[in-house]
Amino acid sequence: MFEPIERVPGDAILGLIQQFKDDPNPQKVDLGVGVYRDEDGVTPIMGAVKAAEKQLIDDEATKAYIGSHGDPQYGEHVLKMVFGAESAVLADKRASATQAPGGTGALRLAADFIASQLPGKSIWLSDPTWPNHLGVFSAAGLEIQRYPYVDAQNRLDFDGMLAALENIPKGDVVVLHACCHNPTGFDLSADQWQTVLKVLKDRELLPLVDFAYQGFGNGIDEDAYGPRLLAENLDEVLITQSCSKNFGIYRERTGCFIAVARDTEQMENVRSQLAITARENYSNPPAHGSAIVATIFNSDALYQQWHDELKTMRTRINDLRKKFVAGLEPHGLADRFAYVAEQRGMFSYTGLTEDQVKTLRDEHSIYMVGSGRANVAGLNDANMEYVCNAIASVVK
Ligand code: PMP
Repeated sequence: MFEPIERVPGDAILGLIQQFKDDPNPQKVDLGVGVYRDEDGVTPIMGAVKAAEKQLIDDEATKAYIGSHGDPQYGEHVLKMVFGAESAVLADKRASATQAPGGTGALRLAADFIASQLPGKSIWLSDPTWPNHLGVFSAAGLEIQRYPYVDAQNRLDFDGMLAALENIPKGDVVVLHACCHNPTGFDLSADQWQTVLKVLKDRELLPLVDFAYQGFGNGIDEDAYGPRLLAENLDEVLITQSCSKNFGIYRERTGCFIAVARDTEQMENVRSQLAITARENYSNPPAHGSAIVATIFNSDALYQQWHDELKTMRTRINDLRKKFVAGLEPHGLADRFAYVAEQRGMFSYTGLTEDQVKTLRDEHSIYMVGSGRANVAGLNDANMEYVCNAIASVVK
């Protein structure tokens, strides 16, 4: 029966990781993989997370199922983190949290919800976007459409995006990255979010905000500007949330699907459907990651520690962005790459061509994704000059 099954190529980034491992050059630099790295190139476990885990070992009383919506405490904490503790959306009981296996699991819940409850609606993705958006939404059977996001000069193409949004059929779903746009690093300004809100309202579109990097851009509250604005001003908003990056618990699969409805009654109707969607997919979400997050939020000391550690990660990334541009100054390239310092999150669309990316890999052992996406967190004080020199040599 298996004879007709074809082998497909593996994930491009995984191939890149293997190539990097096999590369004997001691100066090799990995800017490909999508996880945070510290100054030593390590993806660390946060101190607050370790402390919470130690506490959990002693306090955890059962391993029984946690239910299709997950841990209610986790849901409450995530809602407050996403909307702000004083949010009218929460006071009005318009938002429902369904814990999910990571941001990806939340996206799949969203996709299944749209496919089953809003049939016939297309889903609009930025071009480019995180490649797995295409995978998850098409696996759920949704019709995928694109809106432009980056122009030929490697700048945010807000005019192009807006023109596309203004022509999307009423009722379709628009995916927006809350902050730290993956793969480009180009985020919307407050004014641009206001403009997007107006178009969504006028054209009666349903936003699905992917919120995978809260606290990685400018701060917990600053990064939530877009989702908060939309939820406060629209009747209906979908949000997929992830704790993978901001708690560094990638493999614990900790995320949340949030549905904001016009009122409590409609929210409860939607919520009842989501329990079924979750049950049919995986029954219950994993409990360890959500227990870590809830333990941290329940302790003032652990919360402060986590908050400080998150700030350290964010500051490191934003400092690296500035150092990278400064490192290109002696080559006369600081203006050309100035946008790298303005972008936010781990990723940067560097504007390097596929050929330049290949030369960097083949001749300098610097690894990044073919699109020119670099993980800024792969830079450090030890490799910065080497990378800047190499980039200058391929650009000139
Ligand atoms: N959305 C975006 C934009 C992402 O970059 C990622 C992670 N790379 C996710 C969602 C999924 O995150 P998780 O690891 O929590 O599934």
